[in-house]
Amino acid sequence: MLKIMFGSKSHLTVRDNHLFMEDVDCAALAEQFGTPLYVTSESRLRENIRAYHNAFPDADKYFAVKANGSMTVLKIAAEEGMGADVFSGGELFLARLAGMAREKILYNGNSKSEAEHRMAIEAGVRMSVDSREELDYLSKTASEAGGEAQILFRVNPDVSPKTHPKIATGLKTSKFGIPAAQVAETYRKAIDLPGVRPVGLHCHIGSQILDTSPFAEAASKMMDIASDVVAAGGKIQTIDLGGGLGIQYHPDTPAPKPADLAAAILPIFRDRCQDLGISPKLVLEPGRSIIADTTLMLTSINAVKRAHVNFVAVDAGFNVLARPMLYDSYHHVVVANRAALPPEETYTVVGPICETGDILAKERKLPLMQRGDVLAMLDAGAYGFSMASQYNGQPRPAEVLVSGKGVEVMRRSEDYSALLAGQRIPPRLL
Ligand SMILES: *Cc1c(COP(=O)(O)O)cnc(C)c1O
Repeated sequence: MLKIMFGSKSHLTVRDNHLFMEDVDCAALAEQFGTPLYVTSESRLRENIRAYHNAFPDADKYFAVKANGSMTVLKIAAEEGMGADVFSGGELFLARLAGMAREKILYNGNSKSEAEHRMAIEAGVRMSVDSREELDYLSKTASEAGGEAQILFRVNPDVSPKTHPKIATGLKTSKFGIPAAQVAETYRKAIDLPGVRPVGLHCHIGSQILDTSPFAEAASKMMDIASDVVAAGGKIQTIDLGGGLGIQYHPDTPAPKPADLAAAILPIFRDRCQDLGISPKLVLEPGRSIIADTTLMLTSINAVKRAHVNFVAVDAGFNVLARPMLYDSYHHVVVANRAALPPEETYTVVGPICETGDILAKERKLPLMQRGDVLAMLDAGAYGFSMASQYNGQPRPAEVLVSGKGVEVMRRSEDYSALLAGQRIPPRLL
C-alpha cells in the first residue's frame, strides 16, 4: 500500500496501481456509477470537523452551506455538532431539514428579500445585518410580524486576506458588511429599535486564506469594534469571525490547520474579552476547510489529442467543477486506474463544454493517457457540486459517500428529464 500525494490525506491511498478512497477502488466506482462522479469520504469529513472541535473547544462552528449543500453532508455536520452559516432562504431550508439547531444557524446575506427576512424570523434563527439600511427594513418587517429578530452586524473590517480577488470579502470596497466606523453607532441605534435585538458582531474576510495573519488582524479589529460597542452601551453575546481558512490544493502550497488558526486568534480574543469584561461566544464559519479535501471528482477521458498542445478531453467541464474557470484554481490530478505510474507527458485537461475557457487543469505531467482512463480531480468537495450547472445540456452528476468498504448514493445523477424540470411550453406552441 503506497501513500500518495501531499499533505495528510489519510483517506486516499494507492493499492495495486489504483486510487482508493478509504477501502473503495475509485476506478471501480467510475465503472459502477458512471462519470462524472463526486465521491466523498465520511471518515475524512468527521475527522476535519473534530480537528476544529479540538482546536476550538469553546467555540461554535457553523458549516458554510454554500460550500456543499448536500443533505448527507449537512446531516453528518449536524451530527458532529456543527451549526450552519446560510446565505439564502434555500440554504436555511436545507440546514433546518438536516436537523441543525436553530440556535446554531446564522442567516447571512447582503441582499435579503422581505420574504427571506420573514422566513428567518419565523424559523427563529439569528440574522447578520449587512447595512444600516437593512437594519431599518428588518426592524419594520419583524415588528409587523410580531417577532423579535436576534441580530449580529456584519462588519467590514477592511482586511486584505491575500487571496484571489474574487474571494476577498473584507476589503473596504467589497460589497459585504458595514464600514467599521459605522458599527458602534448602528449597534446603539438597534438597541432602541422595535423588532430587533442586537447580540453580536460578525465578519468574514475571504476564502482560501493560506496565512493566519489576516485572521489575527481581523480578530483584533473586531475586538476594537466590540470595545466601541460596549462603550456605547451594547451587550455582546457573540463574536463570529467567519470562515476562510485555506486548504492545500497544490503540493507546494501548504495550508494552516485549525490549530494554527486557533493559535493566531484565540489569544487575541481571550485577552481582549478579558480587558472588556465580556465573555461572548466565539463562532467560526468554516466551509472549505471542512469539506474540500473529503471529496474528489472522477471524470473519464473521451479523447486524447496531440495538437499544438497535448489535450485530454474528459466528460466533466466547468459545468461540473467551476473553480478552475472561475478562480484559476489548481486541483491536483491523479489517474485513478493507473495511479502508481510515473508521469511521462504534459497534458492540459479540458472539458466537453463549448467554450475555450473550459479547462480543468493546465499543463500537468501525467502517465501516457488513453481514452477510457479515469482522472480524479482532488479536493473538489467545496464549491464543487454546489456550483454545478446544466450548461450545454449537461445533466448534473451523482454524488456518493464512501465509508470504509461501503458506498452509498447521496444524490443520483440527473437524466435528460432534469433538463426539462419546471419547463412548460405554451400550449399554443404544442
Ligand atoms: C463563504 C462564507 C463562509 C465560508 O468560507 P470558506 O472559505 O469556505 O471557509 C463563511 N462565512 C460566510 C459569511 C461566507 O460567505
